[in-house]
Amino acid sequence: MPDMRELYQEIILDHNKAPRNYRKPDDANREAEGYNPLCGDHYTVFARVDSNQQITDIGFEGVGCAISKAAASMMTSMVKGKSVEEAERCFENYRQMITGGKDYDRDALGKLMVFSEVCNYPTRIKCAILCWHTLHAALNNLQEPVTTE
Ligand code: ZN
Repeated sequence: MPDMRELYQEIILDHNKAPRNYRKPDDANREAEGYNPLCGDHYTVFARVDSNQQITDIGFEGVGCAISKAAASMMTSMVKGKSVEEAERCFENYRQMITGGKDYDRDALGKLMVFSEVCNYPTRIKCAILCWHTLHAALNNLQEPVTTE
């Protein structure tokens, strides 16, 4: 068994230093803004969704703490190439996991399982989930900016 806490810190550091998909795709046709006032995390998530409801490209921009940035980086890596439906299912599994739920699909979450550590730091849950709420808003064309409050 790998030490989840060590793995968590390693992955957060890595994605914070070199966030994946940190850009606005030129042909993005979905976007939403998310804000976590408790911590000051503030991001915009962009996506390109094609006529088959596939997420062909995704990116994010903004500022925030290491956890929020690593979460957004890992989220974009995870859902790129997936269907909107799969991304939404992933969000539901992830939400269950970091809020301490028991009924979620560990295999589907893969590397995102390191965020199960966040359960131990309740004040950081909002940091870790902000990007997912923002993605959800973007995919569903919700007009109101997302806030974790
Ligand atoms: Zn934060």
